[in-house]
Amino acid sequence: MKTVLITGAASGIGKACALRMAKEGYGVVVADLNLDGARAVVEELTAAGGRGIAIRMDVADEGEVEAGFDRMMEKFHSCDLVMSNAGVQIVHPYEEYPFADWRKMMAIHADGAFLVSRAAYRRMKARGKGGRIVFTGSVQSFVGSKLKEPYNFAKHGVAGLAKAIAREGAEYGIYAYTICPSFIKTPLVEKQIPEQARDLGISEEEVVKNVMLRDTVDGVFTTVEDVANTLVFLANDQGALTGQSIRLTHGWAMM
Ligand code: NAD
Repeated sequence: MKTVLITGAASGIGKACALRMAKEGYGVVVADLNLDGARAVVEELTAAGGRGIAIRMDVADEGEVEAGFDRMMEKFHSCDLVMSNAGVQIVHPYEEYPFADWRKMMAIHADGAFLVSRAAYRRMKARGKGGRIVFTGSVQSFVGSKLKEPYNFAKHGVAGLAKAIAREGAEYGIYAYTICPSFIKTPLVEKQIPEQARDLGISEEEVVKNVMLRDTVDGVFTTVEDVANTLVFLANDQGALTGQSIRLTHGWAMM
């Protein structure tokens, strides 16, 4: 049985990807800070005939990340696909951005991407059967946005991390990718709408129309299903796309 570990899989994008990969026949490790949420996802995928386990994993904690991957190996004896996806958003005007919030963003997005991808890389290399590491980047991996300096810094960073892992991992059959969506209506984005309205002094409707969707070609949100479809596609890539950032942005930041 092929296996996938997805972080931040109790909600939003990670949850949709966990449910989809179970349908594709993968054994799924649903990893999240929110263990109850992860358990609920496993219940859902099991009820639909899939296999999975829920684990509590704080991606910023080296011990919890390594223990989670050990658990995956004990349970499924393989580590074919890993999605480093957990994330949060904290917006503030730049001059007011608290250092503590910058550090929190770096711990989850930068330390988390490093710890999860290194844990995956170690197991994939040791097994000698290759594997695929997918980061959830963002359209914010290519553009800059008001109020989001730390997020832009970190999301640009994961795209670079994928490129370096792609180069170093190639001789072991380890491929790396970044999936870069524009706005998707998940809890992470629902929370930002009133916050951005407050910080930018505009209405919530204007945040959606004139901030979130302004630069798309069609004014349409990306969906969690778009990301899950792309994950399935990358899970079958034989290296042609390694190192690439796949933009799911409705035309925002075209190459
Ligand atoms: P979400 O809030 O629905 O889900 C995020 C999950 O991450 C939650 O279940 C949360 O418990 C978990 N999490 C938070 N901190 C964690 C930690 N330290 N360790 C483990 N788990 C942790 O958000 P989402 O929209 O599904 O976002 C998922 C990823 O997609 C994030 O990296 C986000 O930056 C990225 N992204 C989101 C959008 C969007 O518009 N929603 C667009 C581009 C990229």
